[in-house]
Amino acid sequence: MKIITTIKECISYLETCSRPLGLVPTMGAIHNGHKELIKAASKNNSTIVTSIFVNPLQFGPNEDLNDYPRKIKADLTKLQGLPIDLVFLPSTEEMYPDNFSTSINVGPISNLLEGKSRPGHFNGVATVVCKLLLITTPNNVYFGEKDAQQCLVIDKMVKDLNIKTKISKVPTVREKDGLAISSRNIYLSKSERCSATIIYKSLVLAENLYLQGVNKPKLIKNAMSKLIKSVPLAKVDYISIANPSNLKELGVLEDNALVSIAVFVGKTRLIDNIYLKRIP
Ligand code: AMP
Repeated sequence: MKIITTIKECISYLETCSRPLGLVPTMGAIHNGHKELIKAASKNNSTIVTSIFVNPLQFGPNEDLNDYPRKIKADLTKLQGLPIDLVFLPSTEEMYPDNFSTSINVGPISNLLEGKSRPGHFNGVATVVCKLLLITTPNNVYFGEKDAQQCLVIDKMVKDLNIKTKISKVPTVREKDGLAISSRNIYLSKSERCSATIIYKSLVLAENLYLQGVNKPKLIKNAMSKLIKSVPLAKVDYISIANPSNLKELGVLEDNALVSIAVFVGKTRLIDNIYLKRIP
């Protein structure tokens, strides 16, 4: 497992690597969700690159950029033994020199849900992912369905800009009690961690109501909201039941609707989602 910290070295190392090449972009604090992406990449690629870069462009002014867990040493230990050829650790200074000014805006889809709560977030995501794709020129890139909107934004960018990389999506990896694994889970106190299980419970409730024949998103959203309100430490930011391709809110439920939720548990903001399916 080679470790490279400069863009120039990364480009020259990958020039001679065997193809196909798979990229797994991360912000570090490596967990089992990231490992599942790496596992998926290892099935279809001869060379695997994992990048670790806490991207300042995707954090709002009052968000957790400074507190975001940076544990490079522990991360490299966790990555040892996984099928990775290169860990790419670019510096912020090289990714965004003082005169850096380009921003990629993929349009309306980036202003809904997460984009509404976190203005500018997806411009930051699209910009860094575009840079990483241009630096590493992967045949395949891997993203988690946990960030479903992020997947849609990247799909759109790749399509609009004729980027040749194929995007693969990996199902959300969960803790035993259903909580979606996230680097931000470490912010949670013991009681908050306990309260956070309500997020997945609310998604399961949505699924059950759908399977029972409830077809009005409004009724499902109300039931989810009520369930979450029963937990004092949890506060809903948004609940959405939308078309999975364009994120437009649905008036009547349809199969494969995307239920997305963002909840503050204490000060920590967590997101999760599921697709509603008649036949799971
Ligand atoms: P992050 O380091 O949080 O930016 O995540 C890097 C990649 O891992 C993104 O594509 C995420 O969607 C994905 N990811 C994060 N958590 C999970 C999870 N619990 N299951 C599957 N993929 C995940």
